[in-house]
Amino acid sequence: MTRTCAADGCDNPVPRRPGKIGRQPIYCSPACRPSRARPAVYVEAERADDSDDPSRGWEVRLRRGEHVVVLQRQLGRFSATALAADVLALLEGSPALAGQEGGTIE
Ligand SMILES: [Zn+2]
Repeated sequence: MTRTCAADGCDNPVPRRPGKIGRQPIYCSPACRPSRARPAVYVEAERADDSDDPSRGWEVRLRRGEHVVVLQRQLGRFSATALAADVLALLEGSPALAGQEGGTIE
C-alpha cells in the first residue's frame, strides 16, 4: 500500500517501509521535506583567532547556528580552502569547485 507525498503540489507515491521501526515517511524525497526550521549548515575556512603562525593558522569548520565542529586546524590557506570545498561538495553532492568558501546548504 502506498500513499501520496504530503508536500503541496507533489503527487508522488511514498512507499511504506514494512518492518522499519519509527515514523513512516510522509514525503517522497528530502527535497519535499520542509527543513526551514533548522538553520543552514555553513562550511567555514578561516584564520583561527588564537593562531600564532600566520602561514598555517587556518582551520575548517562546520557550523549550524551556534553548533560548530572544527574539522581540521593548523592548515595553510590553500589547504583550508580546498578542504572546505571538498566538504561542501560532499554535503551538496556535487563536484568540488576550487576556491569556494563560505558556501551554504540546507
Ligand atoms: Zn514529494
